[in-house]
Amino acid sequence: MADTFTSERRSEIMGRITSKNTQPEISVRRVLHRMGFRFRLHRDNLPGKPDIVLPKCNVVVFVHGCFWHGHACKRGSATRRPKSNARYWNSKIDGNVARDALQAKALSKLGWRRVVVWACETVDAARLETRLRKILVAPKEAGRRHQRRRPDKKAFAP
Ligand SMILES: [Zn+2]
Repeated sequence: MADTFTSERRSEIMGRITSKNTQPEISVRRVLHRMGFRFRLHRDNLPGKPDIVLPKCNVVVFVHGCFWHGHACKRGSATRRPKSNARYWNSKIDGNVARDALQAKALSKLGWRRVVVWACETVDAARLETRLRKILVAPKEAGRRHQRRRPDKKAFAP
């Protein structure tokens, strides 16, 4: 089999698919922790073994590598695939994307909200926090907070 990688190098790359506690994962946990969320890690009793589970929010978070899970970004593989050994890479990536979709369906059936954070989104922690806040703060709660603010505004009105 023609292979551009040595088997050692390949197993190193392959290891990254399922490896736990990757830097992007740690970045997401750090942001969630700072926001005051309580979470659990790598629950293997849920479809796809979500990287982070927030039971109170009914949310599971997957921190996906852009290459392995087909993100449409500069480092992702949504539109650009390796040219050498294309069959091998395509089957790997397409397989991951298909599996992700199946797991998403299964999780939604179980009543979980599924959030995907791409590795490229973990570089800017402030931006990631803003995004997670929008997702995790229930609309009801956000509305209440908005209403609470209104009387203050009136008080300061001329
Ligand atoms: Zn990406």
